[in-house]
Amino acid sequence: MTEKKFVRIKCSDCENEQVTFKRASYKVDCLVCGARLVEPTGGDSEFKGEIIEELGTPEEGE
Ligand SMILES: [Zn+2]
Repeated sequence: MTEKKFVRIKCSDCENEQVTFKRASYKVDCLVCGARLVEPTGGDSEFKGEIIEELGTPEEGE
């Protein structure tokens, strides 16, 4: 079983979808509207948007 390292997250403000690390050590903002999507917490990231799916690689499912 491969650990999923990435997530596809949907911005709750503009519905843009983008792929980011599941455990981000830095904050991630929406590339379209600038809303905060991921907040680093030291462990698992806190996701502000909706997680669409989990990915093993950034390209998976494209
Ligand atoms: Zn957005």
